[in-house]
Amino acid sequence: MTERLALKTDPSETTREIRINENLICGGQTLWITAGPCAVEGLTQLEAVTQALLRHGVTSLRGGAFKPRTSPYSFQGMAEEGLAMLDAMRKAHGVCVVTEVMAISQIEAIAAHADVLQVGSRNMQNFDLLKALGKINKPVLLKRGLSATLDEFLWSAEYILAGGNPNVILCERGIRSYDPETRNVLDLGGVAVLKEKSPLPVIVDPSHAAGRRDIIPALVRAAIAVGADGIILEIHPNPAKSVSDANQALSFDHFAEVMADVNTMASAMKRSVAAPVS
Ligand code: PEP
Ligand code: MN
Repeated sequence: MTERLALKTDPSETTREIRINENLICGGQTLWITAGPCAVEGLTQLEAVTQALLRHGVTSLRGGAFKPRTSPYSFQGMAEEGLAMLDAMRKAHGVCVVTEVMAISQIEAIAAHADVLQVGSRNMQNFDLLKALGKINKPVLLKRGLSATLDEFLWSAEYILAGGNPNVILCERGIRSYDPETRNVLDLGGVAVLKEKSPLPVIVDPSHAAGRRDIIPALVRAAIAVGADGIILEIHPNPAKSVSDANQALSFDHFAEVMADVNTMASAMKRSVAAPVS
């Protein structure tokens, strides 16, 4: 069998540093923190969120313009219009943008407006999409499938790497289980395994794992303690009004508390976080 690019060749191999933009790297000593709404809902929302991020020195904005929804009757995202709004934040505030790509036909437009292309859980095994993302050079944030084993997850990363794009960031976002108390089960043991087996950086999404905002701070602390290279969070100016994933969205005050925890845990783990803007 040929060598698998998503696996370390030597256990001492360090985590790959993936450059996101001129200011940000994922996989190095600094944790990559990205936050924003589940879905782009308008310019006013994005402007408020971006200001909240910048108050904490966070310069990476997430937000879905193309939304993979369980029901075809749910809001499907603002599509190209949403992409243009994300790009406006990029231009006005210098933030980097992370947004989901659901189809090969969207790659060109998204790559023109975003810094990181997210492959959602529901598309982790959309092999044609993964192959096409292997042909670009921008970082791909690959989320673990709803019920994917770690090996299946790494094989999906392999599709992108084998196509020639080395810039893959893995994201653990919780896996399906039987207990309805949480939306998914955050597999922190899996994060430790991925860090051991793969040279790719691994970030954690506590928002989709928990599905409820109250336990997000605890999961963020645990993720950093287990060695995650970053955190992706859903935040909203008015969480109750969020058009999607309202129960897991953090208010700006709640986000401030989480960022205080991020800083405490980062220093305990000898990692750094971008300095808050005073
Ligand atoms: C999201 O990030 O909004 C999302 C849809 O995530 P996931 O693919 O992990 O469900
Ligand atoms: Mn969401």
